[in-house]
Amino acid sequence: MPGTAPWVNAQPHERQACERAWKQARETSAPFVVEFRIGTPNGETMWVQVATQPIRDSGDITGYVGTALDCTTAVEQRRLSDQLVGLLDASGDAIVVFDRVGAMTFCNDIARTMLGIEEHSDTGNDIAARTFMQAVRDQLPRDVISPDAGGTPQRRWEGEVAFRSPEGLSRTLAVVVQSVRTREGVLDHWSTIARDITDERNQQRELGRLATHDALTGLPNRVLFLRKTAEALERSKTTKNQVTVLFIDLDKLKHVNDTIGHVVGDQLIVSIAKRLMAATRPSDLVARIGGDEFVVLCEGLLDEHVAMDVAERIRHSITGPLVLQGVEIDSGASVGVAMSTSEQLSQQAPEDLAVTMLRCADTAMYRAKQRGRGRSELYSDDMHRAARERVVLAGQLEQALAADQFFVMYQPIEHSQARHTVAFEALLRWAHPTRGELSPADFLELADESGLIGPIGDWILGAAGTSLRSWIDSGMVSKQTALHVNATRRQLADTTFVDRTITILREVGLDCAQLVVETSEASLVDNNPAILRSITTLKRHGVRIAVDDFGAGYSSLSALRTFPADCLKLDGTVVRDVGRSDGGDDPIVRSLIQLAHSLDLTVIAEWVSTDDQLQRLKVLGCDQLQGNLVCKPLTTEQVAQRYQAGIGPVPAK
Ligand code: GH3
Ligand code: MG
Repeated sequence: MPGTAPWVNAQPHERQACERAWKQARETSAPFVVEFRIGTPNGETMWVQVATQPIRDSGDITGYVGTALDCTTAVEQRRLSDQLVGLLDASGDAIVVFDRVGAMTFCNDIARTMLGIEEHSDTGNDIAARTFMQAVRDQLPRDVISPDAGGTPQRRWEGEVAFRSPEGLSRTLAVVVQSVRTREGVLDHWSTIARDITDERNQQRELGRLATHDALTGLPNRVLFLRKTAEALERSKTTKNQVTVLFIDLDKLKHVNDTIGHVVGDQLIVSIAKRLMAATRPSDLVARIGGDEFVVLCEGLLDEHVAMDVAERIRHSITGPLVLQGVEIDSGASVGVAMSTSEQLSQQAPEDLAVTMLRCADTAMYRAKQRGRGRSELYSDDMHRAARERVVLAGQLEQALAADQFFVMYQPIEHSQARHTVAFEALLRWAHPTRGELSPADFLELADESGLIGPIGDWILGAAGTSLRSWIDSGMVSKQTALHVNATRRQLADTTFVDRTITILREVGLDCAQLVVETSEASLVDNNPAILRSITTLKRHGVRIAVDDFGAGYSSLSALRTFPADCLKLDGTVVRDVGRSDGGDDPIVRSLIQLAHSLDLTVIAEWVSTDDQLQRLKVLGCDQLQGNLVCKPLTTEQVAQRYQAGIGPVPAK
């Protein structure tokens, strides 16, 4: 190139680049194209493209011919286009552009990885791009990309497209399609922006599942159960099939938690869930609606007999020994059954009736617990009444202590031979404002469940302790007279029970040795470490422990051997037949007394009501007697009258 090179006025680095390229083109005899910038006289920048071809004569290069063009517009457009592609590549969404016949004309980097479009494929024919295009097209309303749309076609569409990923996994893509048309309405091209929302959708699905399922067992929860029950009730309006709800509550799960541990408790729940699933029909719905509460929804059970059979079968499937972490657990459950009636269906909306049925089945389950657990009960309307009364009574019980409605009756316990009063058992009474005098049988369970038993128990000890102190101080009874108070398992399991008891004794001025805490036979077999700890600590302070109502329920003789009791109170049902002319229960009572004495326990007979009983019990070696024959329960005033007047049992001085 003779003369001045065209790039002589280019910016220094571009000039050097051009010179290098020119040198190389001459050395290799290759065609030569360069672009560079020069300044124009009016102060603007112009891009110039210079291209040359060698001129050959019999193979030898004799010169170069070339063109120099103003390519400012082309370069600027190209740079803008590069910038846009860069931006699109940086986007997190897959962007693919198709021409009017559906051939891909552009895709960004994400589109390649997301859709599996090959790096250097002939874009128009790439299989992955075609598959994607087809998937979108199948989903799209036709007019968005129709080649020649009349009227005002829709230009934009948003939706979800199912797509199989390059790895073969099914993915869900959120896709936006935008079509571009000529002024005449002819489709020019269409762009798709796709985002993979599979994980998001899965998370949403999981959240939805969590909202309706129980995390521990994976079973449906209360929300889903109620919804399904309502649906079943709705169906039953036409099918006339009755809907049955079984309410299952495990017996004594707390005991498993307390003695073996929560982890095993959890495993028990999971294992029960599996057994329930196995014991029910595929069409039944099993749900876990609370700690140890499961429910089963059955449709089409013929009548109450069938429903009870099903309940018993299911209950048996979860009853019996079970080995978890090498420990054998005896599992059992109480079941309540409620069946829908056509009357209910006409009175309540299915959603409300579902809630009612659950409550009825719960009430029936509660009755099963009351009747000794390990059984099934069918709901009846009187249960509902009883349940309502319980709720009312529970509310009133809360007020009773503050309203000073409790009082204590004292029943003397006397020495069987010397016939003097050795102790008083404090018996709680509730002067109910409308129902009259209530005894613990009417409200103790409520007090225990609600935890009110704690303060009520403290109150009895304080009140009875104060009375006994005053009777001792006035010389009415001996200084050694003891006070028997009852404590439930719940009270004993409370870690503050012992401290509170000792404090009250100190406040009323009684010696620990004067207190006898009576607890039910159930505490004996409970094996609850908290109860045993309280009892041992009480004994360390000198408080005596009596096992109450012995012989009424468990009668665990082996437990008696290890339980740290001081006294055994024979239940009235055991004592009842003693002294009867036919010999009655003599041999049993005799053996019990002998056994108790061999374990160094004082034996007290309750409910002694006839002279024959009294005489016989004395002969059999019973140590102390309590019952109406000895003395009925007395109010504080009656105690004073009786003992001051010297009527009834003569107090030992
Ligand atoms: P009952 O025979 O009267 O039913 O006595 P229970 O010990 O089974 O007690 P209840 O049914 O009144 O209360 C359920 C207990 O189950 C309360 C809690 O100690 C325990 N529990 C509740 N949820 C879980 C759980 O998810 N895991 C474990 N391990 N225990 C639970
Ligand atoms: Mg339970």
